[in-house]
Amino acid sequence: MNTGAQIYRNSSSSIDKNIVDRIYKDGFLIAQYGLYMKRERDYKTFKVPVDAGFSCPNKDGTIDTRGCIFCPKMGRPISVEYCNIKYSLKDQIETQVKQNKEKGIGKFYVYFYPGTNTHGTPERLKELWDYALSFEDVIGISIGTRPDCLEDEKLDILENYVKQGYEIWIDLGIQTMHDKTLDFLNRKHSSNDIRRVLIECKKRGILVCGHIILGLPDESWNMMMETSKMLSDLEIDALKIYPLVVIENTELEEIYWKGEYKSLDEKQYIHLVSDFLEHLSPYVIIQRVSKDKVPDEIKISPEWSLRRLRILNEVSKELARRNSKQGSKYKK
Ligand code: SF4
Repeated sequence: MNTGAQIYRNSSSSIDKNIVDRIYKDGFLIAQYGLYMKRERDYKTFKVPVDAGFSCPNKDGTIDTRGCIFCPKMGRPISVEYCNIKYSLKDQIETQVKQNKEKGIGKFYVYFYPGTNTHGTPERLKELWDYALSFEDVIGISIGTRPDCLEDEKLDILENYVKQGYEIWIDLGIQTMHDKTLDFLNRKHSSNDIRRVLIECKKRGILVCGHIILGLPDESWNMMMETSKMLSDLEIDALKIYPLVVIENTELEEIYWKGEYKSLDEKQYIHLVSDFLEHLSPYVIIQRVSKDKVPDEIKISPEWSLRRLRILNEVSKELARRNSKQGSKYKK
């Protein structure tokens, strides 16, 4: 029987600001997810990525077939062997839980990763989520999805899990808060969809980790800082920040070879992430500042190494050089 709910029951379903304050007090300049978790829990956690076979409404014809211009036509590459639809969901979860328990990890989230993982009927989703939460030592789920695919009925189901003591995360593809750029990217949703999801999740105790891309075509420095401020004002819980990566077999690749888009160089990216963090609320948890899971064989640009710990170190050094830290330029 799963005892995960009891374990998490008394924890808050929002970020604990006192813990974040302790991170800064300990001399860190960024509210890093790993530091936060270490201070909040006396056990290690791991997100088990699973492929439940979801498509994307922006590719399967529900709203469009083009997809986002940076998304590979054959789907996003995934490097984790057991996150694969060729294995049953049971095998994907059990195998990865076992592998990670051997490394001393105590509790798990099931992370529904490839595709738009709320693109289905509420009944089908509930069945899947119930199943994922039924495993021993699973304390929550994380669901990768788009902002226009989280209707009230689906949010109600998730809210119910929060009430039962589970930790529920939405990994939300945001990219930018500017409609002009969202149109250019062919995202097929608006910034209002993002606002609605953030407000609804906050009301229901569902945690949101937004995915943001810096260096999008035609986005000025001011626009990126506005995105940082808007998400802070909406009290988003966490962020994954990425550079725009040009991958083979995407529309962006065609734009790149025509010479109409140039990637940021490493120094520009590190400066930009530092600026973005300065304009962000100090209480937004930072899960990543790079994207290191793109295989080299399909990465066209940038040429520099995307290794996330290396980039995180460089950003920390840049903030230290400025005598600054996350949130230093954020005003509510
Ligand atoms: S919403 Fe996600 S999966 Fe769908 S086309 Fe865009 S990047 Fe790809």
